[in-house]
Amino acid sequence: MIRKHGEPGVLRLEDIAVPEPGEGELLVKMLSTSVNHRDVWIRKGHPHPAYYVDLPTVLGVDVCGVIEKAGKGVDPAFKEGNRVIANPYIPCGKCERCRRGEFQYCPYFTVYNGSYAEYAVIPANNAVILADSVPIAHAAAFPNSYITAWQMLVGKASVGPADTVFVWAGTSGLGSAAIEVAKLAGAKVIASAGTEAKLSMLESYQPDLIVDHYKPDMVERVMDYTEGRGASIVFEHVGKASWQRTLELCAYGGTIVTAGATSGDEVVMDITYAFVKQIRVLGSRLGTMKDLSDSVRHLNSGYFKPLIGKTLPLEDIVQAHELMEAGGIIGKIILEY
Ligand SMILES: [Zn+2]
Repeated sequence: MIRKHGEPGVLRLEDIAVPEPGEGELLVKMLSTSVNHRDVWIRKGHPHPAYYVDLPTVLGVDVCGVIEKAGKGVDPAFKEGNRVIANPYIPCGKCERCRRGEFQYCPYFTVYNGSYAEYAVIPANNAVILADSVPIAHAAAFPNSYITAWQMLVGKASVGPADTVFVWAGTSGLGSAAIEVAKLAGAKVIASAGTEAKLSMLESYQPDLIVDHYKPDMVERVMDYTEGRGASIVFEHVGKASWQRTLELCAYGGTIVTAGATSGDEVVMDITYAFVKQIRVLGSRLGTMKDLSDSVRHLNSGYFKPLIGKTLPLEDIVQAHELMEAGGIIGKIILEY
């Protein structure tokens, strides 16, 4: 629970009542969750409206747990004891875009908050059942990162075997998910990292080329590898520190798909690069239930193996946020209950 914005110490363990599931909702006894940049920004009070939530609030996007109770009107396919994860993207369901079935463009959507708790209530429409074989840590690391990467590459950029996908920060939660999705689609993958440890960790995902994004010749290496063409899809989630090079290494007629700005959201854009190369820039935010149901098949089959950096008990949430901000952990930080 946080009652005010600030340093990791504002995260406090508190006893709160177990919530009741309403109509169409599931009460989930949580097994695990993961820490996302979004949680850190909300905790700090990021000024962008996308990160505004009313306080006090329980943070946490990724729900992974066991159904304890179903509210009225829930599909009987959801049974007590089923393990579930949930899409954190919650459209309003009432506006003109929602009525047209365009849920992903709902201007009034919210992102789920509340997984840093022993119990969570989620809309049953957002849940999918997990195979018993999926490790809990993999499931907890999955929703935010993999639904986002899936919509960016499959839903928006229509990735396929003819593509070369450039993935910034390939050992981040989103970056490692993108490598797995792009490889599944049969694309060639070039991935970047910035420290010796991260560069060697990247090898476990077997991208076709690994580049160091702190080296001045990074763009040149990408252009050499692609015989001067560049990447047909650039997977952006870094923003300020990477945007100019994203334009430079994107192929003529290529696509930049972006869903994040971890290094800062104000970029200087040489617009001539964009129109001369006839680049498409696509924004993407989380993903649809189709993105979740399509991607979760590959989690259930064991193909997706989210990169886990560290696992801590929920009680150590303050330490988990400190580690997230320090940036030294490679892979997702998982909280177990
Ligand atoms: Zn709506």
